[in-house]
Amino acid sequence: MSINELAINGGRPCRTLDWPAWPIADDGTERALRDVLFGGRWTLTGNTPNGVEPYEKRFGRAFAEFNGTAHCVPVSGGSVSIIVALRALGVGFGDEVLVPALTWSGCAASVLATGAVPIFVDIELATLAMDPDAAAAAITSRTAAILLVHPYCTIANLDAFVTLARSAGIPMIEDCSQAHGAKWREQRVGTFGAVGVFSMHETKVLTCGEGGAAITGDDELFSRLCQVRADGRKYAPGNDYHQLAVQDAGDLLGHNFCLSEFHAAILWDRLQHLDSELETRERLGALLRSMVQEVDGVFPLDRPEEADMLSYWRFVVRLDLERFGGRSLDAVCKALAAELGIFVIPVDPPIVDSLLYQPMKSIAAKNSPEMRRRLDVAQFDVQHARDAHRTALRIPHRVLLGGEREVEDIVASFRKVQQAFSSAAASDVIGPAL
Ligand SMILES: *Cc1c(COP(=O)(O)O)cnc(C)c1O
Repeated sequence: MSINELAINGGRPCRTLDWPAWPIADDGTERALRDVLFGGRWTLTGNTPNGVEPYEKRFGRAFAEFNGTAHCVPVSGGSVSIIVALRALGVGFGDEVLVPALTWSGCAASVLATGAVPIFVDIELATLAMDPDAAAAAITSRTAAILLVHPYCTIANLDAFVTLARSAGIPMIEDCSQAHGAKWREQRVGTFGAVGVFSMHETKVLTCGEGGAAITGDDELFSRLCQVRADGRKYAPGNDYHQLAVQDAGDLLGHNFCLSEFHAAILWDRLQHLDSELETRERLGALLRSMVQEVDGVFPLDRPEEADMLSYWRFVVRLDLERFGGRSLDAVCKALAAELGIFVIPVDPPIVDSLLYQPMKSIAAKNSPEMRRRLDVAQFDVQHARDAHRTALRIPHRVLLGGEREVEDIVASFRKVQQAFSSAAASDVIGPAL
């Protein structure tokens, strides 16, 4: 068997070593967790005050500071952070919210959870982020918010979206669930609109398993965010933690979306490592970008000039599949996954094509023919999102937490698969159908 035999056909894989671990925990993480376990406070809203500042509040303050903004409200998940932000902004039944055509389906489901209508805006192929011109064209008198996602390993065109949101007088929520710590013109993402929201799900670059946060520079909005996530309560004034940490406010109707002390303690600990992990991923991501684009038919996403720091949640490349012998993206992903021993899959499907997106089964659609008409996905043009799902693939961020050896193995895999597929097509020697 030749050394060029693909791993998927029984050949030797390009990567035989383990990948860097994810999620990461160390002694500090364990200490923080034990601190909660035996400290007598398991949640911010518990009623056995122990005289100690809750981790929830400590993490919130640290994360606001990390992002260079005034406030952070930790919440129990990323989708929840979108719901909390929309509710705090007063977005509700029948309002329209602009959502990128290609991202996690939970973004649109969260909009539906408030009774609002997701309006899908097509993406730019160079970045896979929402297209600002398409967004401008989608604005109507009912548009109540723009939910801008910074996708995978890049940043949406913030200059254009800040201008658009301002000129239209519509609040922007930046969903930074895939971009913790990224910087645009020296400023962290999440601080350009009314609210920045984050997921701390296990796959994300800052994680506690399940968690989230909303950040804002606006005092009034902060108070509302607090109340939406804690049944109408906000932080008690002062630092006397022999008293309850929250007090009743009731400016609006809230729910319990609080992050537990265990989760907050993990985030508080892991946040201290985020800058150094970002630096590693940024350095190796840039190296991978420059090396992998030398492989025939492989195109990394654009790096916007204004980006001073990228946060790599998934390393994404687009492929010219003609250069891969005309194989499907799925076949290329499977061959790469076998070489690398790691998850390699296409980027998300357009939300309107996702099995998970079922707007007609939402409460918003119930008993309302008008809402059912407005939720009908057939009306949205998502051509670029469909093209991206057919041609772009993603690799998890942990591969960028090692060293140059990891980058070389990834590049070698792309080269091997590209050469095998293109030469098989040329010589008509087709291996087993993939
Ligand atoms: C992961 C993710 C979410 C959802 O976060 P959960 O913590 O899983 O609820 C929302 N938006 C984007 C862009 C995400 O990547």
